[in-house]
Amino acid sequence: MNLKDTIVTIPNFPKEGIMFRDITTLLENGEAFKQTIEELASFAEEMGATVIVGPEARGFLFGAPVAAKLGLGFVPVRKPGKLPRAQITEEYSLEYGTNTLCIHEDALKKGDKVLIIDDLLATGGTALAAAHLCEKTGAKVVGLAFVIDLVDLKGKEVLKDYPVKTLIEFE
Ligand code: 5GP
Repeated sequence: MNLKDTIVTIPNFPKEGIMFRDITTLLENGEAFKQTIEELASFAEEMGATVIVGPEARGFLFGAPVAAKLGLGFVPVRKPGKLPRAQITEEYSLEYGTNTLCIHEDALKKGDKVLIIDDLLATGGTALAAAHLCEKTGAKVVGLAFVIDLVDLKGKEVLKDYPVKTLIEFE
């Protein structure tokens, strides 16, 4: 099926001028959800991933099912103050201010081959920071996969050093 048809666009959410691409309508459609997980899992296999990493929160919705389908571990990347044990952090710039991502310091190790999965690629800032965070643990990032690519924001250029897979494109 055409996955793009299951995405609903909400103008001016969460702020004026933003066209928000809502993936909850894809999740509600069993056939579309299954197809999405299968396509992401094929890419994970192609890249030889041994572990899946997903950024909070929508990265969990797609990353964890892919990991379970392939019998791989899933590692969450979270915002500050959420993880209970010793962690590594990575700060990255936004248009205004900064964000920080965190991962448990023992969740990945040297030799791990990581596929990062998130719902949407916009500027690529979140994904690049997640990749750097994984690399700080000694793991190798073998690719990044997203359900949606907002192509005009050129996130793929920011991620040019990595194999990237996206399933749906919006101008
Ligand atoms: P980036 O760091 O690439 O600029 O932004 C990507 C992050 O913002 C992703 O984690 C994604 O969940 C979130 N995001 C930005 N815009 C949208 C949108 O229109 N729809 C959804 N579902 N997520 C968005």
